[in-house]
Amino acid sequence: MKLIVIGLGISSLTLLYNLNGRVDAECFEEDVKIGEPEHCTGIVSEKLLKLIPLARRHILGKYRRIVIVDENFRTLAELDFRENVYMVDRGGIDRSLYNDIEHRYRIYLKERIINITTENRIIKILTNRNRVLKISPDSSIIILSEGARRALYRRLTGKTERRYVYGIQCDCRISSKVTDPDTIIVMYSHKYAPGYFAWIVPREDGYYRIGLGSSTYVKYRFLTFLKIFNISRIRKLFGGKILLDPGKQTFTYHNIIFLGDCGGFIKPLTGGGNTLSALASTLLSRIILKNNNDIRMILLLYEYVSNIIKRRFIRGFNIQRIVFSKILQRSINNLPVPYVAFTCNDYDLQTRYVLNPSLKRRYLNDRDIICR
Ligand SMILES: Cc1cc2nc3c(=O)[nH]c(=O)nc-3n(C[C@H](O)[C@H](O)[C@H](O)COP(=O)(O)OP(=O)(O)OC[C@H]3O[C@@H](n4cnc5c(N)ncnc54)[C@H](O)[C@@H]3O)c2cc1C
Repeated sequence: MKLIVIGLGISSLTLLYNLNGRVDAECFEEDVKIGEPEHCTGIVSEKLLKLIPLARRHILGKYRRIVIVDENFRTLAELDFRENVYMVDRGGIDRSLYNDIEHRYRIYLKERIINITTENRIIKILTNRNRVLKISPDSSIIILSEGARRALYRRLTGKTERRYVYGIQCDCRISSKVTDPDTIIVMYSHKYAPGYFAWIVPREDGYYRIGLGSSTYVKYRFLTFLKIFNISRIRKLFGGKILLDPGKQTFTYHNIIFLGDCGGFIKPLTGGGNTLSALASTLLSRIILKNNNDIRMILLLYEYVSNIIKRRFIRGFNIQRIVFSKILQRSINNLPVPYVAFTCNDYDLQTRYVLNPSLKRRYLNDRDIICR
């Protein structure tokens, strides 16, 4: 059996790293360098470091708390995490994974897949260097891990994502203290644009990573947002498309497997996909190694585990739609205290912890509410 891998981001690199060269693979990446251009803030839960132990080398910050604020920086909620939350250098993780795998597989950098078509069960892949691959479903699996752009996914399945924004961010110095070193600030507001949210994350080296996601005028809104702070030094701007809700997701199509953002492995609220992508890739690598040449079984088992992962998160997406547009702000405004604070066991499933205090206020007790 052979793998054809399209896109080398964290999801496919984790898969190839775990396969450890035991499966033949041909990989295509459109960029010249792995991990560049950078796009990700890199906020991940402890789980990512367990799934990809070498990620520990790339930690840039460590956090115990997220404070959710409105557009006037009024605190809406405070989430304390039982597990550590980290900022990692995503590009650095990608490069470390790549250094380990580059001699084990055939890798073509700067080669973009421009089209995939199916004809009598044979899949035809066309690259920008006019290479044509004809792939039989009996001998190969295609791993489509093209990230949030999902151009090939859309063309193949006709499905589109429900909601997405463009995110832009920079690392900068701020002369006054904005937040504690272990606290991330996230701002939600639908006043400016649907899906508008912003983040301020302190780094261990004294810089702040400030970013903003919006469905419209993202650069203008970001530059306006930056003016709030007394910024002294800005490093480069970076960012990209963030999926906020993958909608009805298909995980396989013929002998094509959708992985990472392309497979809709993102968590509610922020659209962060690093941990879930790494989880899906790790499970897929185990399925492939256990069922080496049985392509049908690999596709079936991947579909099965992906649905289990999705089920855990689908409630979160529904809660997100209700909570942040309606319930959270309204009910918290009506509370006799300025905001709610609660402990959250699982960074990747925050929505569950946000919903209980905002919907079922009778469950609140003295420990859940902090008066300021
Ligand atoms: C601004 C921003 C902030 C984010 N912050 C966080 C965060 O804090 N925490 C978190 O967990 N997640 C975050 N994310 C999301 C996270 O970056 C993604 O979930 C993650 O990168 C998904 O990994 P992937 O491997 O699926 O895709 P990617 O990492 O996007 O990799 C896809 C790769 O495929 C290549 N490619 C695409 N199309 C083709 C083609 N046709 N042919 C060849 N190659 C192709 C691309 O060049 C790229 O290298 C953020 C995203 C953005 C944009």
